[in-house]
Amino acid sequence: MTFSQQPPRLGNQYEDDRALRSYLRRALPPDALREVEPALVEMGELAGGELYRTQLEDRLSEPRLTQWDAWGERVDRIEVSPLWRVAERLAAELGVVATAYERRHGPHSRVHQCALAYLFTPSTDIYSCPLAMTDGAARALIASGNKALVERVVPHLTSRDPREFWTSGQWMTELTGGSDVGLSETVARRDAEGVWRLHGRKWFTSAAASQVALTLARPEGNGPGGRGLALFFVETRDAEGRLRNIQVNRLKDKLGTRKVPTAELTLDGTPAVLVAGTNEGVRAIAPMLNVTRLWNGVSAAALMRRGVALARDYARRRTAFGSTLAEKPLHADTLAGLPAEAEAALHLAFFVAELTGREESGEGCEAGARLLRLLTPLMKLTTARAAVAVASEVLEAFGGAGYVEDTGLPVILRDAQVLSIWEGTTNVLALDAMRAAAKEDGALASLDEEIKTCARSVRDARLARAAKTACDAFTHAAVWLDDARKENQVTLEAGARRFALTLGRATALALLARQAQWSLDEECDARASAAARRFALSGVDLIVEADAEDSFALMSESQAN
Ligand SMILES: Cc1cc2nc3c(=O)[nH]c(=O)nc-3n(C[C@H](O)[C@H](O)[C@H](O)COP(=O)(O)OP(=O)(O)OC[C@H]3O[C@@H](n4cnc5c(N)ncnc54)[C@H](O)[C@@H]3O)c2cc1C
Repeated sequence: MTFSQQPPRLGNQYEDDRALRSYLRRALPPDALREVEPALVEMGELAGGELYRTQLEDRLSEPRLTQWDAWGERVDRIEVSPLWRVAERLAAELGVVATAYERRHGPHSRVHQCALAYLFTPSTDIYSCPLAMTDGAARALIASGNKALVERVVPHLTSRDPREFWTSGQWMTELTGGSDVGLSETVARRDAEGVWRLHGRKWFTSAAASQVALTLARPEGNGPGGRGLALFFVETRDAEGRLRNIQVNRLKDKLGTRKVPTAELTLDGTPAVLVAGTNEGVRAIAPMLNVTRLWNGVSAAALMRRGVALARDYARRRTAFGSTLAEKPLHADTLAGLPAEAEAALHLAFFVAELTGREESGEGCEAGARLLRLLTPLMKLTTARAAVAVASEVLEAFGGAGYVEDTGLPVILRDAQVLSIWEGTTNVLALDAMRAAAKEDGALASLDEEIKTCARSVRDARLARAAKTACDAFTHAAVWLDDARKENQVTLEAGARRFALTLGRATALALLARQAQWSLDEECDARASAAARRFALSGVDLIVEADAEDSFALMSESQAN
């Protein structure tokens, strides 16, 4: 046997990322870019080098829960994998959360931070999960105006010192529901000393090894539904390191995100601090969800980019029928759709980062806030669905090797699959986005204006056709919404996913087209243009007149009905 197949290799993940670099050149002022680039080069080197090697070596290790010590004491200790321990230190030192709060570059700090997160995420097996929640907790605490918590906790959440750095969990989902959190059964009671104590079960708590968490509970006597819930802050362990009346019942056995210790918890009198009033907790935790959804979108773009980088490299190393796969027209055609999706997702996620950064630095405006409200769910659901499809195609691009665990490839698909489930499923976010679009506050009009502004910046004739696809898709969705609202609630709800995906994909295409024109003009580079044209052909307008009665008929399989 003389044949040996070379595996795919990664280079510096910043230097090799044409789309990210081109975007940053356009979006950041030159001075800011000069200042942030060394950190991005360093992160790119780690992500394609040492961290990637550690990730492959650490492939089989998973978090371990030890519930009892040798002497029968309940300890509920969670040990995370070696890769995650490295990731925790690096995340603090390299400021993957901190950068957004240090605000060295004003409104651009969010973009800088998201670029770090984008490079860090694919090599750290979803360590992005605790980081997203940590970032979200800092944001929610700041937004709450709770001075004592802000002063005591936020410096830990945003620290660059690994010894000081805390991560935060987000305990919302209960057995009754993750989407309909208003059904939550956890109760908050005040004890004789006036300390709030939580009693209940939390069904999905990732980052279970975190030092703190934000959680929802219903103060005794409050009414039902989301409005009766309050937002609480929990410090998970006491000074001796013992869990504070929290039991870790088990770690979930999951399809993917296997390094994330997702636990089921029982809160049995857990001391907690009210964050902002004794009700309206869902509203109070919303800033956290906006940040975690932004991370979700950035992670989706990043996982797609990793898959594309590996598949492209492999196509040059693998030969079949007399030439490399990279030279096969059909393989090139198949792969071409993947960077187009990844690049569109990058622009959509980073546009939300720009809007977030403006709002956080006080440079936002009302129209920007409305746009952010509408675009956050649209961006999250659009990028997540794309990531699952791209990851699946990436595996096939490797043939049988893509299905074999020790190539390190299947984990991309398994991890991508969670992106459309947590932080709001596609349907739940589609309904949320539709509510935001249907409000008479001008959010939809602001999005229309944004898409048109992007389209107006395009002069290249072939690119203009792609931009027109975006404008037409938006118009079709807006007309559909108008008609469906007049029709009935069933039509409206049933079409929400197609409506939201159309808006999300139209926005992504418009942003990509704007970038592509800039890249043609300033960099003489036609690749973003090729990505935009390809994306325009990949299903942007998804509005169809499906019959809701057909859908309900298909829900039933039995002979009788
Ligand atoms: C790996 C992992 C980690 C997680 N970590 C956390 C965590 O740290 N903290 C936390 O709080 N949660 C966490 N979750 C939970 C996650 O957020 C929920 O699973 C998710 O929000 C969905 O809730 P559910 O599981 O109750 O599904 P359900 O709400 O029961 O949804 C089931 C299906 O019904 C659809 N659906 C629901 N309502 C509607 C509607 N009105 N119209 C149309 N369709 C609808 C949904 O889209 C979904 O397809 C995690 C989940 C996973 C998989």
